[in-house]
Amino acid sequence: MLVPMRIMLDHAAENNYGIAALNVNNMEQIQAIMEAARETNSPVIVQASRGARSYSQDAYLRHLMLAAAELYPELPIAMHLDHGNSPATCFSAIRQNFTSVMMDGSLSEDGKTPSTFEYNAQTTKYVVDVAHMLGVSVEGELGCLGGIEDGHGAGMSGEEALKHLTDPDQAAEFVKLTGVDALAVAIGTSHGAYKFSRKPTGDILSMETIEKIHKKLPNTHLVMHGSSSVPQSLQDIINKYGGKIKPTFGVPVEEIQRGIKNGVRKINVDTDNRMAITGAIRKVFAETPEKFDPRDYLKPAREAMKEVCKERMIAFGQAGNASKIKMVSLDDMAKKYAKK
Ligand SMILES: [Zn+2]
Repeated sequence: MLVPMRIMLDHAAENNYGIAALNVNNMEQIQAIMEAARETNSPVIVQASRGARSYSQDAYLRHLMLAAAELYPELPIAMHLDHGNSPATCFSAIRQNFTSVMMDGSLSEDGKTPSTFEYNAQTTKYVVDVAHMLGVSVEGELGCLGGIEDGHGAGMSGEEALKHLTDPDQAAEFVKLTGVDALAVAIGTSHGAYKFSRKPTGDILSMETIEKIHKKLPNTHLVMHGSSSVPQSLQDIINKYGGKIKPTFGVPVEEIQRGIKNGVRKINVDTDNRMAITGAIRKVFAETPEKFDPRDYLKPAREAMKEVCKERMIAFGQAGNASKIKMVSLDDMAKKYAKK
């Protein structure tokens, strides 16, 4: 059933776990996510960026999500807009049945230029006011992440992003002003495959920023973006079968688990799944070049992505929790917000 993201994050907070937010562009990806969730009894956050919405078209995307809800009625599913650049984008997503939206006011509407705190707070509050009337959850962002994701981002390197970390005092002010359900924090992570040139330990990723923010905002659900781990094994499969991925490091799962101990409830993972798909397809092409039925390579691709999703669901602690979450409709959620 499609539910507001907020109820899952609340359950995750009460029970000290995190939930992977997995990006969807097509049918095989959502199938991989839903099968992984069923096998591990995990609540599901699927998300689509503006890029995904234009690639797959809203109508296809909406029906893929509705199909997932129909086929997996026992699982709570939140359909989330990743990096909405304006209120208009958020509202158009809500009209497409999204149950959660991200209003990323850390950048201006062009999705590139860092904005002011005032613009961010004002724009995000506007989206929160409207979305909550409809029972829809809202994620905001403060500080700037590195890299570019589907054309969205200031384009900083991981090292540069470390100079734009979220300020814990500002975070407290931002949450008070806007009433967001979840806050994406900048702690030096970047979007994409090329995050770090060496293994990021405590000194590269600013985990203490998360700890400080969590102390100031113990009841706010924190979100880690750009949190693929980019495991060596996935890089190796791609490169073994003719790919050219340069040596790179993502965010180690242990660091994410440290974040989960400090209020991180939503962890965005996309690159790892893209790499799993690409590696599996390359392998089929390289080993059996005579094949030409797309199912011959999309099936193993779907299977490879499912395995990555399962690994993350288990590592983040969401596995085993789907059946414990009480489903709440958007209408009931709207009533809850109205009482506050
Ligand atoms: Zn992001």
